[in-house]
Amino acid sequence: MFFQNQKCIALISVHGDPSAEIGKEEAGGQNVYVRQVGEALSRQGWQVDMFTRSSDPNQAPIVQHNERCRTIRITAGPQTFIPRDELFEYLPTFVQGFLKFQHQSGLQYRVLHTNYWLSSWVGMQLKKVLGVPQVHTYHSLGAVKYQSVPTVPIIATTRLDVEKTLLETAERVVATSPQEKEHMRSLVSSKGMIDIIPCGTDISHFGSISRQDARKTLGIAADEKVVLYVGRFDPRKGIETLVRAMGRSSLRDSGKLRLIIGGGSRPGESDGRERERIESIVAELGLAEFTEFPGRLSPSILPIYYGAADVSVVPSHYEPFGLVAIEAMACRIPVVASDVGGLQFTVRSEETGLLAPPKDDEAFAAAIDRILTNPEWQFQLGQQARLHVEEKFSWDGVANQLSQLYLNLSKQPTKAVELAAVSA
Ligand code: UDP
Repeated sequence: MFFQNQKCIALISVHGDPSAEIGKEEAGGQNVYVRQVGEALSRQGWQVDMFTRSSDPNQAPIVQHNERCRTIRITAGPQTFIPRDELFEYLPTFVQGFLKFQHQSGLQYRVLHTNYWLSSWVGMQLKKVLGVPQVHTYHSLGAVKYQSVPTVPIIATTRLDVEKTLLETAERVVATSPQEKEHMRSLVSSKGMIDIIPCGTDISHFGSISRQDARKTLGIAADEKVVLYVGRFDPRKGIETLVRAMGRSSLRDSGKLRLIIGGGSRPGESDGRERERIESIVAELGLAEFTEFPGRLSPSILPIYYGAADVSVVPSHYEPFGLVAIEAMACRIPVVASDVGGLQFTVRSEETGLLAPPKDDEAFAAAIDRILTNPEWQFQLGQQARLHVEEKFSWDGVANQLSQLYLNLSKQPTKAVELAAVSA
């Protein structure tokens, strides 16, 4: 059980429930990150409480993942799915819920590690009361994201203000790549302390199945060329670029090409509009015959899809890190990714895959074809990709670096005084 003054840590992820099914609606990399970091920290002796907002009255208020790691769901606003851009008004209730829980349980957290700007606001309020250090991971920066969307939401000004205050007042901000750090410096603020600690992946889970077994399980013939997308249906993910690239592929009429677009919920759910849009482009380009949409891929089936693929494509317009790229590489699959953000850090062009300019379907087509038509090079890229992930991106390595950071910070006084400027 939990005791005062142990190594207790609160991970706060208001909109990204670490126990949620990944891949549907807004559940993606942040949920995976919080859950995996939480579990890996617990293996290193931390007591980990992961706080999130309850989005369904039927959900358990507490989910115990192992003896030292649990998800705690706080009721703040209607217990239903609410898009992240509409959550800000419920945050004061979330803060109260957190404090009530902490008071009742008698726990003292050494550090608050917040995730995404909504949680950063929660952390800044809690810090005023609790006086403990705050570590923050942005997952996405408004200043970058708003450059690549056609319309900016009403909440944008608030988000940009909160992200700036956070960077200038948090005890430490974690950038998951040098590119993300650079964005923080050039677009958010020149002040504040930033460490680079990457995201990780489970290298025993990903890469555990042979290509032959994976293809047998999915009923894919040995000579088929499989191009795989895994991720949410969100325009920022650039699925359209991939589909248009497939329309240009020299292999499109070979009868051997197979495009698998994995992820997303059913039509009618909140990501359905993007999915329907993508399906209509597939139909319009005459690609339906070799394209499939298997829907959300569960963690147990995901390594099978990667394992069966020839190339994994991450065509995002913007990507602060991009877990899918390292998962695919852990499975020895070369990655063709947009030459943006964290993908520039994780994918080594010509060594573990290829980088192409975002939104450039011609360049994506050329890169994908280059790999698919050169099986020996494809194999070599895959082997190098696996080694690269083993060296740089295991969750235990990531948790080790975070653990050191928490221990160092919990010995230092917090910057509580500077928080006076932050208001609800
Ligand atoms: N994912 C999944 N099943 C799916 C689609 C995605 O488990 O059907 C997972 C994927 O494996 C990865 C995460 O969701 O771990 C997506 O993270 P990423 O950083 O690539 O993108 P984000 O969703 O954070 O934008």
